Amino acid sequence: MVRIITILLLLVSAGIAEPPASRNRVSSMPPVVTEEQAQDWLRLWQKRLRLDDWKIEVRIVRIWELERGTLGHIDWSTTHHTALIKVLSPEDYELPPDKIPADMELSIVHELVHLHLSVLPLNKSSRNAEEQVVTMISEALVNLEHRPALTIDLPEAETR
Ligand SMILES: [Zn+2]
Repeated sequence: MVRIITILLLLVSAGIAEPPASRNRVSSMPPVVTEEQAQDWLRLWQKRLRLDDWKIEVRIVRIWELERGTLGHIDWSTTHHTALIKVLSPEDYELPPDKIPADMELSIVHELVHLHLSVLPLNKSSRNAEEQVVTMISEALVNLEHRPALTIDLPEAETR
């Protein structure tokens, strides 16, 4: 009986010691998406979308630096041809970690498509329509990029 109680006590104390240890492990994990990765996506899609004449920056930001309920944001200056894209930090994502990188890439493509449309006059009444168009085009592009590679059934090699 005494032994059982001792084991229980050990379990309880182990349980108490657990939370700080696991917190440390989480915070020392490498980020799901690094600033470098975000830069790489920006450069790739900026080129593909022929936006090379723009000087664009991307920044990973916390949830409070974005408009409520949004995953990304872009500010631009047509006179200077500069733009700043902000994307939500993986720390504030509610998606499973393996789904976050593709979604962040999508945010960057989404904001770049907005930049293309920046030549159009700002019109409050067409804002929703623009949002829908941008969402559909950017999703189509990113899906094309990430569709599984075609698997071709090759005939078995002939015996020589
Ligand atoms: Zn948008």
